Amino acid sequence: MSSARAIWFLLARIGGAVLLGALVGAVLGSVLGGIALALAAALGWQLMNLFWLDHWLRDRANRAPPDVGGIWGEVVSRVVRLHRRKRFHKQRLLQLFRELRRSTAAMPEGVIILNAQWEIAWFNRTAGRLLGLHRRVDAGMSLTNLIREPALGRYLQQGVFAEPLVIARGEPRCHLSFQVVPYGPTQRLMVVRDVSRQVALESMRKDFVANASHELRSPLTVVTGYLETLLQDETLDPALRAPLAEVQRQTQRMNGIVSDLLDLSRLDFVDREIDGVPIDVAALCEVLRKDVLAHPSHPEVQVEAQAEARLLGDQAEILSAFSNLVDNAAKYTPATGRIHLSWQVDGEGTGRFCVEDNGRGIAAEHLPRLTERFYRVDAGRSRDAGGSGLGLAIVKHVLQHHGATLEVESTPGVGSRFTCVFPARRVLDTRAAPVSPAIRSASA
Ligand code: ADP
Repeated sequence: MSSARAIWFLLARIGGAVLLGALVGAVLGSVLGGIALALAAALGWQLMNLFWLDHWLRDRANRAPPDVGGIWGEVVSRVVRLHRRKRFHKQRLLQLFRELRRSTAAMPEGVIILNAQWEIAWFNRTAGRLLGLHRRVDAGMSLTNLIREPALGRYLQQGVFAEPLVIARGEPRCHLSFQVVPYGPTQRLMVVRDVSRQVALESMRKDFVANASHELRSPLTVVTGYLETLLQDETLDPALRAPLAEVQRQTQRMNGIVSDLLDLSRLDFVDREIDGVPIDVAALCEVLRKDVLAHPSHPEVQVEAQAEARLLGDQAEILSAFSNLVDNAAKYTPATGRIHLSWQVDGEGTGRFCVEDNGRGIAAEHLPRLTERFYRVDAGRSRDAGGSGLGLAIVKHVLQHHGATLEVESTPGVGSRFTCVFPARRVLDTRAAPVSPAIRSASA
């Protein structure tokens, strides 16, 4: 029955009761008394229904709904429908929640739900196993109290979670990676992975490259020595001179690759920011300029450097990175071209070392991959120019050690600009203060 019909039905009933009361009252001699009695009876009936409804609602789970008609029947059936729908949704949610819990429990990664104070709200079985947590004892405890690793405390405090933190723990040594994923205003999800295998493979790779390069160096030095002696020999058969010169050129190239590989593996072993001493970049630019001019055929070189600004860094690493950039500019710019070296500090204290050339430039699709090892835009040309494809990878590593970044802009046929951007903590104005203590603590 619709609610409008139920109301009409109720009104009709009351009307009927009033009419009946009036008739009985007329027979008994008091019409008003009869009506009042009928209204009281109707009210009593409604109150009774209300009482049954309330009684049922208080213990709905255990009682059958009252068998009432009219508007009260309508109310009861609506409540029953609502109740059924609520129970259905509740069960679905419960089922979903159980499935979710089962799937996160079975995940190979450890998952921990943490609140804003880094207290554990929940964790799955893998997290418990990896970190030795026990549900009954450790839920509600602060994570840093349970895992007493200073590096983890610092990681959580810094609040920069783009990269995971890897910590070596326990005996036998196991490498765990921790990554925080903030969700909601106060909740954080921490994913814990066992990365021991990846760390072992990475260290094997580094050792392999370092050892192989090292082992290649000695035979190459011997071959280079013999070739030099042979080529200096006046009695050498002239027919052999040209092939031997080519062998010497190729050995020099191999020497270059081996020495770049050794440099890279040395840089690879340090994966944090390093300390620094003040470097006179203006003087360094002059050295780099002279190096280019020492080549028999070279482009013009201009230098523009802020002499008073020192760069706080590792002298050998910075020299290697900057000379790689300048060598590239010289290699890929014709002798009729121009190279511009600059070292500038902006208003915020950010230092920029920039190598600009008007050489052949690089197409946009190559730019994101330039710093990959052995990536060359044109392998043939790079080889002819004596390139190993490792120069920009070395630059990237050196800049990482200094908290700096490399920006590359290039247009084919117009030229390229490689800019090393150093944060203000790496730049020192000799007219102002002594060495900034910030740089000493940067790597602490
Ligand atoms: P390579 O030893 O081959 O020069 P790099 O890692 O130094 O290796 O550079 C990678 C590639 O980037 C080079 O092969 C070259 O194609 C391109 N490249 C680097 N610098 C320049 C430049 N200044 N102008 C044009 N191309 C460049």
